[in-house]
Amino acid sequence: MTILEQARSGNITDVMKTIAHNEGVSPEQIRQAIADGNTVILNSRQPVAIGKKLITKVSASVGLYEKNDTIQGEMLKIKAALKAKTDTIMDLSVRGDIDDMRSTVLNSIDCPVGTLPLYQALHDAEEKYGSALKMTADDFFEVMEKQASEGVSFMALHCGTTMEVVKQAKEDHRIDPLVSYGGSHLIGWMIHNQCENFLFTQFDRVLSICHRYDVVLSFADGMRPGCIADSLDRPQVQEILILGNLVKRAREAGVQVMVKGPGHVPLDEIETTVKLQKKLCHDAPYFVFGCLPTDSAVSMDHISSAIGGAIASFYGADFLCIVTPAEHIGMPDADDVFTGVIASRIAAHAGDVAKGHPDAIAWDREMSVSRRELDWQHQIELSIDPETTERMWKERSSNFSSECSMCGDYCALKIVTKYLHDEREVI
Ligand code: SF4
Repeated sequence: MTILEQARSGNITDVMKTIAHNEGVSPEQIRQAIADGNTVILNSRQPVAIGKKLITKVSASVGLYEKNDTIQGEMLKIKAALKAKTDTIMDLSVRGDIDDMRSTVLNSIDCPVGTLPLYQALHDAEEKYGSALKMTADDFFEVMEKQASEGVSFMALHCGTTMEVVKQAKEDHRIDPLVSYGGSHLIGWMIHNQCENFLFTQFDRVLSICHRYDVVLSFADGMRPGCIADSLDRPQVQEILILGNLVKRAREAGVQVMVKGPGHVPLDEIETTVKLQKKLCHDAPYFVFGCLPTDSAVSMDHISSAIGGAIASFYGADFLCIVTPAEHIGMPDADDVFTGVIASRIAAHAGDVAKGHPDAIAWDREMSVSRRELDWQHQIELSIDPETTERMWKERSSNFSSECSMCGDYCALKIVTKYLHDEREVI
């Protein structure tokens, strides 16, 4: 039985208990949320739940992409992402020794690992037939089965990117017709072979593999807007409508499912984007890329992503895919990945505080009381990036008695404590 089938049968499994403990809620609450479909468990040695009323999670992507990329180099990026406390890792390798990269990742880390099997299927077809366009549906399902059997926790699949949606995109004259790497390659394959998307036409094969290995299905958005102007246009909405039906079919088959979202979304459309997905996809967990509320923050896109991600989380997005400072310019290095995870964690946390999540509120409260008490050690421990906080404090303020160099002798907190606050409030 899959996790979803267990939940629907009223069973509370060990992994549900582990998640309940980690999230500070009851196992029954987790079981019910999974049965309702608004929460999924990405199973691994260190399982993670994504969903309603839980802490918003963060995912970092790596992968062999450029000719000179190495598995060692990607593992350094993963190390940086884990140090920044990402919740999951996606291996999105498109070239090189993809099998070796994936097994190295799966054997080295405990958190859930996600993949996009189409990338390997296209790569292997290139190797086998001399052209990725000669890939067959059977080739794809062979790769998907292999990856699932190795312990991949979740898979991004463009099941809703159909010919109808492609036709709509053509008619709509988008500024950026297609930005999704996977989506554009799949559509290229569909048009070249004059063939409907097999992830849609053979969706039952997708479901049977996910069911066999209890892999969480993550519907990738081929029609993700690549710029503000294309946000919430007809091709994007049409794809969400198709995905809504597939979400139902996946749940009926006992397969956990979440939906990936955009991308470039202006601030005033983030609420609508999230609520539309939640409505049309039956409250499935929402995994957003960013979002990016401006097209012009290049080299600082992690800041844009943090702004958009915080608002998306506040309105109900459950899972944030990092955007690094290198987005739109080139491949990120380990420092970029670290910065991207930190930026998304700040966004997730700000969204959780605004949503009233008790643990998020308690964290900020504890930080504020430690700040009032000038307890630097505790502030460092509580900060989003303790190592950087400690380094900066040592460089700039450690020679001060208790205040910091910001105000020095005029430290307001010190003055307040001295004159106004003789009764210390218990946390
Ligand atoms: S010196 Fe200023 S910034 Fe530093 S702790 Fe005191 S009030 Fe805060």
